[in-house]
Amino acid sequence: MKEVILSADGDSIVYLVPDAVADNLEDYCLEFCSNWLRNISLNRFGAITVIDDDKWERLKWTINKKNPGFFQDVIPPYEEQIEQEYQLAVAKEVSKPLTKLRSEAEKKKTQPTVSVVQTKVFNRNPTIAAYVKKRANGICQLCKQKALFIDQYGEPYLECHHIVWLSNGGEDSADNCVALCPNCHRKMHIMNDESDIQVLKQSITDQF
Ligand SMILES: [Zn+2]
Ligand SMILES: [Zn+2]
Repeated sequence: MKEVILSADGDSIVYLVPDAVADNLEDYCLEFCSNWLRNISLNRFGAITVIDDDKWERLKWTINKKNPGFFQDVIPPYEEQIEQEYQLAVAKEVSKPLTKLRSEAEKKKTQPTVSVVQTKVFNRNPTIAAYVKKRANGICQLCKQKALFIDQYGEPYLECHHIVWLSNGGEDSADNCVALCPNCHRKMHIMNDESDIQVLKQSITDQF
C-alpha cells in the first residue's frame, strides 16, 4: 500500500491505495475506483501523486457513485465521457487472452447494479434534428448508403450527429449537424477521424 495525495485547486486529500494504483494513477484512477473504495483510508502525508483537475473531477464523481455525498462539490461528467470510459475499459480487457477472459467472465455472473447519478445532458432542438434528417433524404452522410431500415414512425432510420461535439462546445445548428447510419455514428464517436470529419463537412456544403 502507498499513500497518495489527490489534489485539485490546492485542496488535497491523502489516501492509502494499493501500490499498483499509486504507480499507475494517471491511467488507472477511473478503472480502479471501486477497489480504492475498499482500501482507502485517510492517513498522514506520504508519497505525493497529483492528478489533473479533469481526472480529479471524474474520480470524485465515481467515488460518489458508490458513496453518495462523499464529496459535496462534484461537477458531473457528460454522458459521452462515461461512454468513452466504458469503451476504454472494454478495450483494456480485450487485450487479455480468450481463455483468461472466459474464466473471468464466468466468475462474474452478477445482476448489474444500478446507480442513480447526476450527469449533464444537452437539450437538443428536435426541429434541427428533423431538418437534418430530412435534408439527408434517407442517405447516410458518411458512408453514403441508404438507411438500413424504416423506423417505427415510417422514416428512414438515421441519427443526428454534431460534427463538433456539444461537449466540446459545438453548436446545435443545421451547419454543425449531419444524419448518419448507426454504424457511422458509432464510428464518429469512437474514432472521430479528421478525414471523416472532412467528408461530413463537405456533404453539408454539397446539400446547399
Ligand atoms: Zn453510414
Ligand atoms: Zn453524435
